[in-house]
Amino acid sequence: MAETLSLPGFVNAHSHAFQRALRGRTEGGDFWAWRESMLALAEGLSPEQVRLGYVQVYRELVAAGYTAVGEFHYLGLPEAHAAVEAAAEAGIELVLLLAAYGRGGLERFRQESPADYLSQLEEVRASGVRVGLAPHSVRACPRDWLEEIGRYAAAERLPLHVHADEQPREIGRSSCSQRPAASGRIRPSSTPQTRMRASSTCWRRRTRACVSA
Ligand SMILES: [Zn+2]
Repeated sequence: MAETLSLPGFVNAHSHAFQRALRGRTEGGDFWAWRESMLALAEGLSPEQVRLGYVQVYRELVAAGYTAVGEFHYLGLPEAHAAVEAAAEAGIELVLLLAAYGRGGLERFRQESPADYLSQLEEVRASGVRVGLAPHSVRACPRDWLEEIGRYAAAERLPLHVHADEQPREIGRSSCSQRPAASGRIRPSSTPQTRMRASSTCWRRRTRACVSA
């Protein structure tokens, strides 16, 4: 009888499930060509398309031994609920890392204010979904957004998750006071560090398939 080895389920702590639809469509271009394709895809997705696509991704994760996923989600609130449905359908634990997006990107990514963002987060959380706070990046979130979201995460003891280091041109769009001092590090003065998870996504240095927008 063959010996077996049991392992704990893997955790995918940073997923952009909708980008599965870009597989095989962006070969040969640079980051910026990829980003344009990604934005065009994101702009046209309906909640039902999100649900169907995410079910595919999550089933692939389950088949590969993953039991939990952190979905870094910035497609909008109805689509957040669609992601929750997809995880339930595929049988994977979900932490919805709802992205705060104050500027740039697409209109559907953005909230009007930190209060607007927190109200969306609370709506999702009130339905029983595990959530984490995800200020998208120092480019997409002004400093006051980072500070207010950081305070909320600390008070509620919720995960705080951020793209800490983007492609250099994107970092250049941040104000000087917000640019990371070093690769992968972000230290706004009042953003607590203890429950913080940073995803370093600089195109030149990345080694895993995580890119940001
Ligand atoms: Zn990412």
